[in-house]
Amino acid sequence: MIIPIFIPHEGCPHRCLFCNQHRISGWSKPVTPETVQAEIAAWLGRRCASGRSETQAAFYGGSFTALPRARQKELLLAARPFLESGQLRSLRLSTRPDCMDAEQADFLKAHGVATVELGAQSMNDAVLTAAGRGHDAAATEQAAAVLRQAGLETGIQLLIGLPGDSRASLRRTVGRVITLRPDFVRLYPLLVVKNSGLADLHAQGRYTPLSVAKAVLLTAFMKERFEQAGIRVIRTGLQAGEELESSLLAGPWHPAFGELVSSRLLLRQTRRLLAQAKSETVRLRVNPRDQSAFRGLKSANIDRLRQLGLWRRIILVNDPEQKRGNVRLLQA
Ligand code: SF4
Repeated sequence: MIIPIFIPHEGCPHRCLFCNQHRISGWSKPVTPETVQAEIAAWLGRRCASGRSETQAAFYGGSFTALPRARQKELLLAARPFLESGQLRSLRLSTRPDCMDAEQADFLKAHGVATVELGAQSMNDAVLTAAGRGHDAAATEQAAAVLRQAGLETGIQLLIGLPGDSRASLRRTVGRVITLRPDFVRLYPLLVVKNSGLADLHAQGRYTPLSVAKAVLLTAFMKERFEQAGIRVIRTGLQAGEELESSLLAGPWHPAFGELVSSRLLLRQTRRLLAQAKSETVRLRVNPRDQSAFRGLKSANIDRLRQLGLWRRIILVNDPEQKRGNVRLLQA
C-alpha cells in the first residue's frame, strides 16, 4: 500500500505545459511535518483494518529533489517515527530526472527512501521541448543509472498523447525506457486540465487530445511491450477524483481506463491464441478476477469475438491460479 502525500509543484522550477498538480491531486492544504504525520497516521488506521503490510508513504506532485535540502529533510524526518516503529517499510517520492545525482540519491537512501519515480514523460527531445519540460531524454538515462547504482527502486512515468508525439516516437520511447531496466512504469494518457498551458493550446485549437479509443490502443501496446520485457506496469490512467473530474477540459478520460486497457490486451491475446489453436473448440483459462475485463465494457470483447465468429469456439475456465491479465489456452 502507498500512502500518498502531495506537495503540489513544490520544487518545480517552472510549470510544464500540461501540468496543474493542484487540480490533478485535489490537494490544497499546506504540507507541514504535522500534516505529514497526521496523514500517515490516518491511512495507517485504515490499513490496520484491512490487515495490509509493506506500506510506503510517498511524496508526489512536485519535484522533491529540487527542493532545498532543509525542506527535503523536514518532510523525510516527519515520516521517520513510522519507519522506526515498523509501521512504514520505507518512503517513496517522485521527481524530475534532471534533479538527481549520486549525492542526492545517497541522501534519500540514508533517510529511508527506497523508491524514486522519475517523471520522464517521453524519451523524445523534441516532444520534451514542446512540453516545456526543461530537460532532455539523456537526463532520464543519467538519473536512472544513478538510482540503479544507489540501489534504489526506480519507476518511470510516461505521458501518452503529448504535443508532437506519434506512434513511432512512442515506440522509440518504450524501447529506450526498456534499455534503462526500470523496476516499474506508470502510463498516463494526457488530459487537458484547467489552468494549464495545454488548456490554452487546446482553446486556441492548437492541440487535439487523443480519443479514449486511441489512448487505450496506445497504452495497451506500451503495457504489452513493457510486460514482455519483464517491467511491471503499475498504473495505466489517472485515478478518479472529484477535483480531477471537475477540472477536466478534454482528453481521454475514463474512470475505468485501466480496465479498458486490460480488456484490450485480453482480447488481443485471445485472438492470437485462437489463431494458433489447432482444434476448433478451445478452453481458455482466465483468472476469476479478470472475468469482467475479459468480457470488456458492456461485453464489448464478447461482441467482437462473436462478430469474428470466434466466440462459439471458446469454453471459458475460471482458474484462480491463472496469472492476472493473461489468458492461457488448453486444447479441448
Ligand atoms: S510535471 Fe512535474 S516538474 Fe512539471 S510542473 Fe508538474 S510536478 Fe512540476
